[in-house]
Amino acid sequence: MEELVNRIKQDGNVLGAGVLKVDSFVTHQVDPKLMENIGATFAQVFAEKNITKVVTIEASGIAPALYAAKVLEVPMIFARKAKSLTMDEELLTSSVYSFTKQVTSTISISRKFLNEEDNVLIIDDFLANGQAAKGLIELCRQAGAAVEGVGIVIEKSFQDGRQVLEDMGIRVVSLARIASLDNGTVTFQEADA
Ligand code: 5GP
Repeated sequence: MEELVNRIKQDGNVLGAGVLKVDSFVTHQVDPKLMENIGATFAQVFAEKNITKVVTIEASGIAPALYAAKVLEVPMIFARKAKSLTMDEELLTSSVYSFTKQVTSTISISRKFLNEEDNVLIIDDFLANGQAAKGLIELCRQAGAAVEGVGIVIEKSFQDGRQVLEDMGIRVVSLARIASLDNGTVTFQEADA
């Protein structure tokens, strides 16, 4: 997605340890127009897959997931990282190790929002080692739902997330693919859409 790649070139900052900072348009301050276009692109790619729910994880996945869900005319569900007092129903849960925060957290979705009739599109902001997406796939599979694919805004292709997901039989569609962040420079490779 050319618009996204250009924005990363313009406003992305490379931190040490292979981390890309995009807090001025994705992870903290959010550009609604860009997110809308990202959501529409995912919706277009998965238009024929009979998607019934879009699933993401709080917080930065919510914006692109919501715009995709709006175009697909289905609900968006975000997995929670902390248990809320109001979540008193049966929960689907899985453990996720966070690449950026370096802690393991339990993520959860209320059982009542996913079932075996669902065809799910999973969306997240970043794909690094694949742990967040893997946790979301596990939640869907606990519910008996089918995962039609994972849509990623920014994939760091030098980490093994894509391989982890493809080994689970999951299609990955990334709108920007980063081959390297070496020497403080973002090097792109061909994206999926
Ligand atoms: P994974 O679970 O694939 O290892 O990492 C995905 C999660 O880690 C994303 O949801 C994102 O929040 C965070 N993350 C991973 N790498 C980066 C990065 O380079 N920059 C930012 N801002 N977040 C990242």
